[in-house]
Amino acid sequence: MSLLTATNAAVQLGGRTVLHGIDFAVDPGEIVTIVGPNGSGKTTFLRLLVGALQAASGTVARKPGLAIGYVPQRLAVDGTMPMTVERFLNLPVRRDRTAITETLALTGLEGMEHRQLTALSGGQFQRALLARALLGRPDLLVLDEPTQGLDQQGEAAFYSLLETVRQDMGCAVLLVSHDLHVVMRASDRVICVNGHICCQGAPTVVSEAPEYRALFGLGSQGALALYRHDHDHAHDHAHDHNHDHDHSHLETSADV
Ligand code: ADP
Repeated sequence: MSLLTATNAAVQLGGRTVLHGIDFAVDPGEIVTIVGPNGSGKTTFLRLLVGALQAASGTVARKPGLAIGYVPQRLAVDGTMPMTVERFLNLPVRRDRTAITETLALTGLEGMEHRQLTALSGGQFQRALLARALLGRPDLLVLDEPTQGLDQQGEAAFYSLLETVRQDMGCAVLLVSHDLHVVMRASDRVICVNGHICCQGAPTVVSEAPEYRALFGLGSQGALALYRHDHDHAHDHAHDHNHDHDHSHLETSADV
């Protein structure tokens, strides 16, 4: 049985239909990546599936008792407020100490219980967010652009960690990514969203699909240019949501 299933679901925001005709299911243990241009509805898609948004029409059914672990894009940490990794992992729910030790080891943060959050590198902080989500023993781990701000190596390491987590914990993984190369290799299935599901399938199938190529530029050059753009701004948080100037040529393919 699928963990969750959307059937002909649509979402309206501010009186506008942002997503329509969504037919989609996640099965236990699979890694599914959602790609699409800026503003194409990727975050909305996640929010619909996890129940943070209601479908305006159609349905979203979740397996009864489904535990979802959510890893946010980023979390603003107040640098003036001291907080250790352990304290952070105990928020908002107090966790078993052994579980914390084991989860830190799994996520490559072994022995970092007493480290200050503000002393963690970007990659370590993403791992701490992942560790916190894993402590809820999720059936489904949901991540919204988890590697924003990491360099290419950090990104590749994070995705390889997701594969380890899936093996160790057996959870399914659903993530949004702007990265078209690293992430696709680590996915069982890729969903290309642009107001609706344009194409989906195994990574190699999607990257060859005409709909995908129209959205992301022809051939690997277009995808590569996009990748470089995101990578170049990886450490500039002020630019994280301002890619529109470079993506404008993508938006024009909106009805693909
Ligand atoms: P993506 O994650 O692919 O960048 P989003 O899902 O964030 O896209 O947004 C999809 C579309 O919905 C965008 O055009 C965005 O402007 C619009 N949108 C997002 N949130 C709201 C909201 N709360 N009210 C109105 N429109 C919204």
